[in-house]
Amino acid sequence: MHDDGRYDDPRVTGAGGRSSGDPVSRETERWPVNGDSSDPSVRPENCDPVVRRDTPVVGGVRPTSSVPANLPPTREAQEPTGRPANAAAPRPLPVRGNAAAAARYEPPTGGMGAAVPQQPSPRAVPDATPVPALPSDTPSVAGYGAEPDASTYVSRETPTREEDDPPLAMEAMRAVQILNPSGEVTMPRPERTRVMCVANQKGGVGKTTTTVNLAVALALHGNRVLVVDLDPQGNASTGLNVPHHTGVPDVYDCLIDSVPLAEVAQAVEGIPNLWCVPATIDLAGAEIELVSVVARESRLARAIAAYPGHFDYVFIDCPPSLGLLTVNALVAAQEVLIPIQCEYYALEGLNQLINNINLVRQHLNPQLEVSTILLTMYDRRTRLADAVEQDVRNHFGDKVLQAVIPRNVRVSEAPSYGQSVMTYDPGSRGATSYFEAAQEIAERGVKEPVSRNA
Ligand code: ADP
Ligand code: MG
Repeated sequence: MHDDGRYDDPRVTGAGGRSSGDPVSRETERWPVNGDSSDPSVRPENCDPVVRRDTPVVGGVRPTSSVPANLPPTREAQEPTGRPANAAAPRPLPVRGNAAAAARYEPPTGGMGAAVPQQPSPRAVPDATPVPALPSDTPSVAGYGAEPDASTYVSRETPTREEDDPPLAMEAMRAVQILNPSGEVTMPRPERTRVMCVANQKGGVGKTTTTVNLAVALALHGNRVLVVDLDPQGNASTGLNVPHHTGVPDVYDCLIDSVPLAEVAQAVEGIPNLWCVPATIDLAGAEIELVSVVARESRLARAIAAYPGHFDYVFIDCPPSLGLLTVNALVAAQEVLIPIQCEYYALEGLNQLINNINLVRQHLNPQLEVSTILLTMYDRRTRLADAVEQDVRNHFGDKVLQAVIPRNVRVSEAPSYGQSVMTYDPGSRGATSYFEAAQEIAERGVKEPVSRNA
């Protein structure tokens, strides 16, 4: 940086792109503040940390303004929106039905990079064979920073024009397709209830985000879905805008006091066919209290089995631990969905989860299988993400969904509005990817119906 505050770095001055041969992670790259870049990978929609002009103010604070103070002012600062930066943003009107949301939808200006629709290719249904333990040298740490093998490496750094900047009409069309205003059954319903436990003992890998968005996507497309929030932090309840303050009947009452699930499940406002069993902070004590309860590992399984209504899907959002709450989820489920963040350390600790799943299968729930792996927070600017994806696909094969969830700022903004990204910005790449993942899950379910747990 020069004394007068100017930078020589072309990424800061906007004078040019980056070197394609540079193997270093570009996580900290900023999109040029003085004009649009010709390099699509550093455009605003692909760079989470920098606030876009149309990014809403959340709780009076614009999120993630991580540009150092000594950098030139952002476009946002130069072109104020007319609302003081510290003014509270008006909360969006609650969505009332997916038809209302579709009617309300206005694609954000600036072209969020919604991908071109892709039909998932028919593929073999994953078998129920136990997942082998990961080899001791996984993750292949040495390989992550190294140059990829030229014969297998497919760069995602040069997206096609359509992927990067879809016409607004296409984005709007995609939004309507995702919101499905007609309410028709456009994702096939399984013959029997699929109880899916969304687990990974690592925190922050996208368990809750995945639970909420898959549940909303399936419900918008005609499936009856129940979300059981099993994390005392109650993030899934927040994401679905379901009250979960102290005193609200919650999953703790079901586990400890045997209250029927139907008495605590709440309909999710604005999303037909979707219900949520919330978690309050009371659940934090359940891990200890369960120790002395009869049949402590199968309390949730019994509660779900006793639910009088029929669901197509029950998603259980697990806490980031392998304690009794997660064991309850594994005993209640037939399938485990493991979200894996496309980051370094992604596979570390997975061995422990797989071992626990194998133990639960041997002793408590013989039907349990790891049916689905979903790659989350994929950052196409980094080779690390490609390397992690390759490792995961090599190890788990066709259990890994073809759909990969990109890192997308709309996904992380949605919960602060009490919404999923499917309704918050249905034209965004995040919504599109979760929609594709839900579609794949639904199609796999009808190719090989999973036997009912109860
Ligand atoms: P977990 O439930 O595994 O702890 P979360 O779903 O709460 O993980 O995600 C952790 C954080 O990452 C949250 O702040 C969430 O908004 C954010 N996040 C999740 N998925 C994405 C994504 N695809 N793009 C951007 N941010 C994401
Ligand atoms: Mg969570």
